[in-house]
Amino acid sequence: MNTAERRSAPDPTVFTDFTPEQIERSRAYKHDVRPLVVISTLLGLAVPLVLGLTPAGAALVRVAGDLAGGGWIARALLGSVAISLLGLVLRLPLSMWGETVSRRWGLSRRSWGLFAADTAKGFVIGAVLTAGAIGGLYALLRHAGGGWWVWAALAAAGLAVLGSFIMPVLIEPLFNKFRPLPDGELRDRLMALVAQSGVPVRDILVSDSSKRTTAANAYVSGFGKTRRLVVWDTTTDSLSTEETAAVAAHELGHAARRDVLVGTVLGAVGAAVGVAVLAAALHWSPLLDAAGVQQADDPRSQALVRAILAVIGLVGEPWGLAYSRYIESRADGYALDLFRDPDTVVRMERALAVQNIADLRPRRYEVLLRYTHPPIPERIAHARRWAAEQGVAIPRSLSAESKEAGGT
Ligand SMILES: [Zn+2]
Repeated sequence: MNTAERRSAPDPTVFTDFTPEQIERSRAYKHDVRPLVVISTLLGLAVPLVLGLTPAGAALVRVAGDLAGGGWIARALLGSVAISLLGLVLRLPLSMWGETVSRRWGLSRRSWGLFAADTAKGFVIGAVLTAGAIGGLYALLRHAGGGWWVWAALAAAGLAVLGSFIMPVLIEPLFNKFRPLPDGELRDRLMALVAQSGVPVRDILVSDSSKRTTAANAYVSGFGKTRRLVVWDTTTDSLSTEETAAVAAHELGHAARRDVLVGTVLGAVGAAVGVAVLAAALHWSPLLDAAGVQQADDPRSQALVRAILAVIGLVGEPWGLAYSRYIESRADGYALDLFRDPDTVVRMERALAVQNIADLRPRRYEVLLRYTHPPIPERIAHARRWAAEQGVAIPRSLSAESKEAGGT
């Protein structure tokens, strides 16, 4: 199958690999989720911009800070918590709506109790970390002189590295329980794959993701002593041993190329650059005027800080996503080289797409703006291309398979 042929008709891979019912289900789910995506994107930008570019945010910070005497530390910390809390209140109806949609489609298994616990934990962690960062930012702005932003950039980079290091050991266990993959056929198969790859992996863990979702996934996180390969229990429950091994091979590809480490370093550099841009914007008087604040070192400017960071994030995100899709595609390539069984890879991709109700026909702009991974049909095409290049049997389509059903 050549490239021109593949692109001439609309998504031939989709039609040969998925049944009309599966394609329709994917389309209908996307139709249901689209308003959520649009509203949450707009809200995520509108709230910080309105708070930061009008005096509303400064007023909120002042009122919150006055609860504890109105000093700069009170305004920095309580102001930050107040803005986080307002964000939570505004987002809550949307996330509850999202939860009901996920339930209707059989993707979510969360009780409302667990939903509330997840939301509360996420809020407390986020609010505390943000308040700490805001407090540190204004301490530097007030006491480090003109070079404050150099220290702030270094601190932001350091926090990005620290975050990546502690994420698997401190944050993830707050939401999920992890246990070593139990002895048996699957563990033997995955350990053999790990040995074959030569990648140092300390352990293979299974997470209790099924308490929240029916969707399947796996990931690697941490680096050095905290590096682990985590397979969701929904994956081990629904995929065959070989299909799970294909998933693990992809994750080993991330570990082999040190994607977590490199991603962390890039994140640290991005954070430092973000702080430098923030520093320039924060001293631009029209922005301070819009926020109703005289000086950048007044913690009432923190809503403006969030607005600037939201814009920086918006501009930076497509680049981060493009890099993410690149390393995901590279991990797919690594997995094919290691696993050498494109047929199982295609089955695995197909199974995950159906189980997670993946969008089988995403538009190009959706991929550019939201996709951390290449779309599934592209990943399946990658496996077939690999097979053609290597001269192994090219994975057959689902339709070809169903014609032979019962034959073997
Ligand atoms: Zn991946």
